[in-house]
Amino acid sequence: MTVTDTEVSGRRYTVHNPATGAEIGTVPDCGPDDARAAVDAAAAALPGWAGRTAYERSAVLHRAHGLMLERAGDLARLMTIEQGKPLRAARNEVGYAADFLSWYAEEAKRVYGTLIPSPRSDQRLLALRQPVGVVAAITPWNYPISMITRKVAPAVAAGCTIVLKPAEQTPLCAIEVFRILHDAGLPAGVATLLTTSDPAPVGDVLLDDHRVRKLTFTGSTEIGRALAARAAATMKRVSLELGGHAPFVVFDDADPKHAAKGAALVKFLNAGQACICPNRIYVQRGILEPFLETLVARVAGMRVGDGLADGVAVGPLIDEAALAKMERQVADARAKGAEVLLGGARATGDDLAAGHFFQPTVLTGITRDMDIYHEETFGPIAPVIPFDTEAEVVELANDTRYGLASYVYTRDLDRAVRVAEQLQFGIVGVNDINPTAAAAPFGGVKDSGLGREGGPAGIEEYLDTKLVGISVAR
Ligand code: NAP
Repeated sequence: MTVTDTEVSGRRYTVHNPATGAEIGTVPDCGPDDARAAVDAAAAALPGWAGRTAYERSAVLHRAHGLMLERAGDLARLMTIEQGKPLRAARNEVGYAADFLSWYAEEAKRVYGTLIPSPRSDQRLLALRQPVGVVAAITPWNYPISMITRKVAPAVAAGCTIVLKPAEQTPLCAIEVFRILHDAGLPAGVATLLTTSDPAPVGDVLLDDHRVRKLTFTGSTEIGRALAARAAATMKRVSLELGGHAPFVVFDDADPKHAAKGAALVKFLNAGQACICPNRIYVQRGILEPFLETLVARVAGMRVGDGLADGVAVGPLIDEAALAKMERQVADARAKGAEVLLGGARATGDDLAAGHFFQPTVLTGITRDMDIYHEETFGPIAPVIPFDTEAEVVELANDTRYGLASYVYTRDLDRAVRVAEQLQFGIVGVNDINPTAAAAPFGGVKDSGLGREGGPAGIEEYLDTKLVGISVAR
């Protein structure tokens, strides 16, 4: 069930707290043999699990939901220690993660086929929905619990079995999720966890095995593209939730203070390490000044530190490479004429010295030739860009290869509808910084991915359609 049941290699690796650098545990360091054993177990468990009634599968997910809520306090604390987000945000994530368990516990019972009218009177056409089979799932570190339940819950609800490789940085959260599934009564082999410090050999086994019929991946566009290409050789179904470069558009009929508050909240969510974080904040010139004034004041008031400490709004970045990327993007923007209104450097101080902290940063004077204009930042830097007209900002907002989240602030309903319809993104928040829910389809277009997670679309990703034609003698 968990990684320990399939562990062949016997190796372990150490996990660190990004706020303090402290060692917080060791986990199995799985290799290709473990991956093969996990696929063997998933393939063996498939007929039994697919053969259970939807009501039985639902009951397990309902129990897992209850256990996750019972353990929410401990899970949130572990998430803060392992991933870094402030404790309150970690509690919110555990709630969001649990929502997927209960939502798909219900949806398991609504996997309906269809009876299709035939052109022949002696024929019946039946379209059945069946589980795709063994699923390989790969998840990132930034939402280390909800990104797992967003895949596992619909997969097992549909009757699939699943092998999951979590991010190297956050295996402890993954182990606790799988412990919950185990304690809820999920049979052996239905969901297996492979923690590893070396993803490629494990990923290769999962991708090259014909028995694995589906890849579901959340992570960067670069890795997602490479994995999808490899999965094509065995013709797997593929779902990809990839990077983003969200535009946040504020028109001059919006309340600049309200919009700036929203921008600050969603930009600095998880220290800017969310795929839906704004990467370009476009503000209509007429309200640029009051918008910036509020934004800078709010961001200046955000306390940086260990997410376990009271009042901390911005935790550490995940590692040294992330810090180096912030420095590079700020240096590049500065060299090309950007002005740093706030922050712009590593956050230092006695209690921050051992962690990966960057000051919440606000930049203006952004131009299209800067790295930050095109490259996903994934950190606490807010670039603000003025614009003049609606047509201009729609063109600017769509000027990216990414297409995940986008935001529009306006009090003009006509404009809100016009702009939402023209934005080439999978998600649009209209005066709304959290357009997500377990019941709603989440996902991107263009380089942000394929498929949707959440809602009825989320379980479709784990179902095949089988046509049964029945000839009826008269
Ligand atoms: P990443 O570097 O692409 O890693 C994602 C996962 O892929 C990790 O588990 C990683 O393992 C694994 N991986 C890397 N190379 C692999 C290989 N050759 N074979 C198999 N697995 C491999 O992304 P990340 O830094 O963890 O996450 C940040 C990215 O995720 C951002 O771009 C963000 O926008 C995106 N994201 C998207 C969504 C969404 O819903 N669209 C949600 C959250 C995050 P290791 O950890 O061992 O490297």
